[in-house]
Amino acid sequence: MKYHSTNNPAHQVDLKEAILRSLPPDNGLYMPNTLPVLGVDFWGKWRDLSFSEIGFAVADAFFGEDVPEEKLREIVDGTLAFDAPIITLAPGDHILELFHGPTLAFKDFGARFMARLMAYLTRGENRELTVLVATSGDTGGAVASAFHKVPGTRVIILYPKGKVSGLQEKQLTALGGNITALEIEGTFDDCQALVKKAFLEREVAERMNLTSANSINLSRLVPQSFYYIHSARQLADGIEPVFVVPSGNFGNLTAGLLAKQLGLPIRHFIAATNRNDVVPAYLETGTYTPRPSVATISNAMDVGAPSNFVRMSALFGNSWDKFRGCVSGMSFTDEETRVAIREAKALHGYEVCPHTAVGWLAAKRWHAAHPGSSTITLATAHPAKFPDVMDAELGVGAVEIPERLAILADKEKVATNLPKDWEPFRDWLAAHIT
Ligand SMILES: *Cc1c(COP(=O)(O)O)cnc(C)c1O
Repeated sequence: MKYHSTNNPAHQVDLKEAILRSLPPDNGLYMPNTLPVLGVDFWGKWRDLSFSEIGFAVADAFFGEDVPEEKLREIVDGTLAFDAPIITLAPGDHILELFHGPTLAFKDFGARFMARLMAYLTRGENRELTVLVATSGDTGGAVASAFHKVPGTRVIILYPKGKVSGLQEKQLTALGGNITALEIEGTFDDCQALVKKAFLEREVAERMNLTSANSINLSRLVPQSFYYIHSARQLADGIEPVFVVPSGNFGNLTAGLLAKQLGLPIRHFIAATNRNDVVPAYLETGTYTPRPSVATISNAMDVGAPSNFVRMSALFGNSWDKFRGCVSGMSFTDEETRVAIREAKALHGYEVCPHTAVGWLAAKRWHAAHPGSSTITLATAHPAKFPDVMDAELGVGAVEIPERLAILADKEKVATNLPKDWEPFRDWLAAHIT
């Protein structure tokens, strides 16, 4: 399969380039030349398939021309080493728990698939692949865990000193081996600027065989469509779910659109955001106005210029009417989010993280206007990852900490401190990557 840039259909590349380059040089986003549709051989039996069989069918539709079947099955099964169960809080009010992976956030699905696909695409090369990633929290941990011990790869994570939570920092800095953490004296934007600069210096990027792992990479989106199909399959026959997606860069919602395109019957999507509401505002007014993000308690969704907007828009032929016919936007304040966290616990004995709470608020608003419908709200992270907010709303210790998070507390942090300027970073790269 060939891939093209959303900015220029004539710019065509193969799978290896689309995945390893991540971004076309014209700053568009890569899209497959044809969007796959699964046939009756799949939809005739989809309710009886396992998570792994669904994952393989979807991955095969996208990558089957370029990756042999046996290898693709191995990549899918290595990705899906944990389940994504559905919890029903009330009739028609379902929660899809996507946080049972190693870093307790849905980003594990995309990162694990990407790591395995990249390792396959660079097989047999004698140069090590270096993955550079700037993180404000969850992404770096998922990418580090996914690439840890993958032969032929190393990961360099840049994170802003003092601006990620204690547990998040341990997820970035305690793995060792092929994972290196750089603690930058600056903000997340400074980290991102260093990564961008390294890619723009073509000579540096090529000599060091650099690649990126951010959420615009197509190989992170495709595996996220697996769980839309896997969850819809568990509802009673004939029920078309409304998917509620707590969103920031909109990779997760784009993956849902890919699942719909594959043929999954989906009634509607709800893009649920915090006060960073540029997409709900676009759906309301038809005008897309990116702006600087504001800080909220659902901080993984603090995005002012969502990187997948262009891709979503392309999927609707850049038509506002088609977009809003399929997706509704809803946004909520921190105060509303805090109330929802308390309410989920009081009414259902269920603990939602601040991101999932934003989604659940949207689901409740939808149910009030559409009685009898079925919503599936994506639970994007485990509540134990956000102890400050959860302790404040539910009381200290109310959320049980899973063991894989608890053991991090005793691990040793290993990170190299660097200023936020380009030259020291370039020199560090040159000294450590050959
Ligand atoms: C990354 C993240 C999101 C936002 O997902 P997008 O695909 O960027 O829209 C939501 N919740 C959590 C917990 C996240 O880590």
